[in-house]
Amino acid sequence: MSGFKIAVLPGDGIGPEVVKQGVKVLETIGKLFHHGFEIQFGLIGGAALDEKGVPLPDETWELCQKADAILLGAVGGPKWDDLPSHMRPEKALLKLREGLKLFANIRPVKFYPNLAFSSPLKENLLKGVDLVIVRELTGGLYFGKPKGRFEENGKVYAVDTMYYTYEEIERIAKVAFELARNRKKKVTSVDKANVLETSRLWREVVQKVASRYPDITLEHMYVDNCAMQLVKNPAQFDVILTENTFGDILSDEAAVITGSIGMLPSASLGEGLKGLYEPIHGSAPDIAGMNIANPLGTILSVALLLRYSLRLEKEANAIEDAVEKVIADGFMTKDLYLNNPSAKKLVSTEEMGDIVV
Ligand code: ATP
Ligand code: MG
Repeated sequence: MSGFKIAVLPGDGIGPEVVKQGVKVLETIGKLFHHGFEIQFGLIGGAALDEKGVPLPDETWELCQKADAILLGAVGGPKWDDLPSHMRPEKALLKLREGLKLFANIRPVKFYPNLAFSSPLKENLLKGVDLVIVRELTGGLYFGKPKGRFEENGKVYAVDTMYYTYEEIERIAKVAFELARNRKKKVTSVDKANVLETSRLWREVVQKVASRYPDITLEHMYVDNCAMQLVKNPAQFDVILTENTFGDILSDEAAVITGSIGMLPSASLGEGLKGLYEPIHGSAPDIAGMNIANPLGTILSVALLLRYSLRLEKEANAIEDAVEKVIADGFMTKDLYLNNPSAKKLVSTEEMGDIVV
């Protein structure tokens, strides 16, 4: 019995529906591989506002601090849209990431043959796509100071500052190289070093880190070119390493190349093993409570949780293999099923969870 503590935060909208399927799969892995997962539920987002009056209650924060890993559904919805910004459900997520010092956002993007229809790219370009974006989450343009709106001599101007320290770049680069070790052993570091000083430092530091990983190939790519290469030849990539703003943009671009938003998992990691895992989609209020949401992004997030926070690689692979098989067998939720010639059976959220189990 390994006794891992896992905090589960279902949240709002379809969050609870998809998280329920993730928990089913987690419990199954616990039984099959004899791990004593201690699963504890916490309130977050709108659900927490309704019951406790705050988006991130103290109990939830304490639960997350004690946990080895956190599984999250989604937060937010029209019911809480008019609240002031410090009270909004989304604030809970930002606080959690900041409080737990999670600086690396990881988004794997993988092509499933039966889902080619849902991609804007042609199938021949998608074959072999299996990449992961490593995005720096706490620095760069979004947080650098000075920042704000100013007035001088009657003119109004606004400032954002791109700011990175050596250490911030070094720690995110390490995450990328460690990931590449267990993959195709290639890191593409994305910057704009022809224009930006932060990018020139980025290149230097990444190069230094790379010298400690002689088994891994490093290439540098400008962000504008990378945006183009992602749609022109996405199969060339293994690990894409980039800063906050570029990563924000590229990870959404990469997410659409292989299909439904309901399929994609993510991890946010820090210095230690603890991480926060969630599907990349939002709370989807338009389909909440209908038992039609795709739970595979959440189930694949459970696989990432096992791999990165608990170091249970076999168990993570078991989940990913099961998801692959379910898709290959043509079982699909509505988002994947419609207009898909490879679809064989339309299944609900609950049924999808059961089939993966
Ligand atoms: P957020 O701002 O919280 O990221 P969003 O506005 O980006 O939210 P989502 O909640 O991700 O939007 O929903 C976008 C669209 O995708 C909606 O039409 C929603 O129904 C659909 N969608 C999102 N997640 C799923 C899912 N798991 N299964 C099926 N459809 C989904
Ligand atoms: Mg969104």
